[in-house]
Amino acid sequence: MKTINDIGEFGMIDRIGRFGAQSMDVLTGIGDDCAVLRMGDRKVLVSTDMAVEGIHFERELATPYDIGYKCAAASLSDIAAMGGTPLYCLVSLSCPKDTEVAFIEALYQGISNLNSAYGVGLVGGDTTGAFDRITLDVQVIGEAKGSQVLRRKGAQAGDLLVITNTVGMSAAGLKAIRAGHSVPELIAAHYRPIPRITEGQWLAAHEGVHAMIDISDGLIQDAGHIAHANQLGVNLLTEKLHPAPSLEKYCWENNLDALSLMLSGGEDYELAFAVDRSKSKELFTLFNQEIRTPLCVVGEFTHDWTGVRVDGKVTDLHGFNHFVE
Ligand code: ADP
Ligand code: MG
Repeated sequence: MKTINDIGEFGMIDRIGRFGAQSMDVLTGIGDDCAVLRMGDRKVLVSTDMAVEGIHFERELATPYDIGYKCAAASLSDIAAMGGTPLYCLVSLSCPKDTEVAFIEALYQGISNLNSAYGVGLVGGDTTGAFDRITLDVQVIGEAKGSQVLRRKGAQAGDLLVITNTVGMSAAGLKAIRAGHSVPELIAAHYRPIPRITEGQWLAAHEGVHAMIDISDGLIQDAGHIAHANQLGVNLLTEKLHPAPSLEKYCWENNLDALSLMLSGGEDYELAFAVDRSKSKELFTLFNQEIRTPLCVVGEFTHDWTGVRVDGKVTDLHGFNHFVE
């Protein structure tokens, strides 16, 4: 009997996609960072993100505040990936009956502080019991302004693949947390990711940006999602991938490979987007003046092959996939 272990997370999502709604008002359904729904004159964005104890966090290591903050940030990041504005959220919580009230309050404090920073209001949720593990799910509802929505689909051969800021720090942060190392910058990258809302909105509002995703499962995997949505290949260029100084230092001290963490480490929640090569220079200058978050060209799209390559070569590295080891 076939199990989800045989087809993997994305194979499962492809199958679930057959049950997706077919309606003129579903502008984007299953398969992107958010669903895009037409409601009157407005384009509503909806997404949900779940965090499960033992998979996404460990109660012995993370504070409840960390758990709430990070799960809310991950959820908002999907709105950023479409260039939208987050508005409201609903939180579903499943927890064992011996969970301390103070734990739950701290978890909501984390969600609430993240929400306040982005003008998001908590409007509901659901609560259930659990046998042993905590599960948290944050659903976010947002809005796209006018025609401004960037999807995974839309990249063209010849486009550059660009990321905001840098990647790999969150994965290194998790290693540091597990090893008991005090590396504040990396640990903050892991527990306090920044949903790139302003950056996403800016990119969606400027011509020449063709497609976008947020990097939740690692650069290789998420760049691969854009390539796959457009039947293209994406070539990642290692000469362009410079680790942040704190990442480089930590890797050097702990005999880790910074490049693998940059390519396949997840949970950075930076944006990755495809941009028209001929418009890129002008766009980057303007972005730099108005937004200031660093941008880094890390690859290019091609129609010569499909999938992801690193320096033109097929790679064994991959990102995070539930159900596949
Ligand atoms: P992201 O990493 O951006 O949160 P996912 O990989 O979790 O995206 O999901 C990709 C797409 O699949 C999204 O459109 C999401 O809504 C959809 N999806 C994922 N899991 C399910 C599910 N169990 N049922 C229906 N749709 C799902
Ligand atoms: Mg996403």
